[in-house]
Amino acid sequence: MAINYQHILDSICEEVKDLLPKGKVADYIPQLSAVSPLQFGIAVYCLDGRTYTAGNAHTRFSTQSVTKLFALALAFSREGDKIWSRVGREPSGNPFNSLSQLEYEQGIPRNPFINAGALVIHDILAARFVQADIALLQFMRMLAREPGLDFDRTVAASEHQTAHRNYAIAHLMKDFGNLHNPVEDIIYGYCRQCSITMNCVELARAASFLSNHGSIPWDGTRILDYSSSKRLNALMLTCGTYDAAGDFAYRVGLPAKSGVGGGIVALVPGELTIAVWSPGLDAAGNSLAGVTALERFTTLTTRSIF
Ligand code: GLN
Repeated sequence: MAINYQHILDSICEEVKDLLPKGKVADYIPQLSAVSPLQFGIAVYCLDGRTYTAGNAHTRFSTQSVTKLFALALAFSREGDKIWSRVGREPSGNPFNSLSQLEYEQGIPRNPFINAGALVIHDILAARFVQADIALLQFMRMLAREPGLDFDRTVAASEHQTAHRNYAIAHLMKDFGNLHNPVEDIIYGYCRQCSITMNCVELARAASFLSNHGSIPWDGTRILDYSSSKRLNALMLTCGTYDAAGDFAYRVGLPAKSGVGGGIVALVPGELTIAVWSPGLDAAGNSLAGVTALERFTTLTTRSIF
């Protein structure tokens, strides 16, 4: 029997209210610091199309690192296992924008979900498409079934002006021969990628192919084969929430990808996707209320992968 998640989402929305002022909005990207932390949205997209929402589920936010999931899916779908010669599949145990590991691991990022790895993935896409950022946007529009998705040019410019650390990462990888396009082009495209805005409903829908073993649930379009989809889910579980992935698996128990805009998308394979958004972050850079909301969801519904 189909489960009605509405009352669960409503009660989670109430439960996390006290946490909203406690998170810290990302301020290293100036434009993000202007967002009020007192917002929370949640959306569940079931594979049969039923959608449940609560709170600010229809407010668009800066998806930031959540886009790394879609960029990886696009690169993996086109290049297959070739990508693994340029980026690893291990948790980094370091902050998402750390430089230190990259030096002693010869410019090969630990995984595609830290900044270094995402820059390499963007570089791979840039070799495939005339404009990697536009190709990714179109891919995400198709996945979300929402042609209105777009970049936030103000956020992109704001990040570009303060992207010193990402420039440093890109230059280091260029020196090691693991960035084929000009550093400037990749940073510009990556900042545009991170600026794409979505709401929780759109985000949950866009990731639904990953809980549907690689194909879009409403029309059957295959994005990834069964095995690749399973592998991408595994990467989300082990690396999708930065160096807090272990704690996230312990508390929530779902494959997920987070971003410093406060969004997190998670999935129950074969059943549903769930997107949460709240801009206040914890020390690891994950949404404070968002992680708690997902923890409550898997506890209340007993839907975790474990
Ligand atoms: N655009 C951000 C950065 O590169 C994305 C980081 C994130 O969401 N973790 O720093």
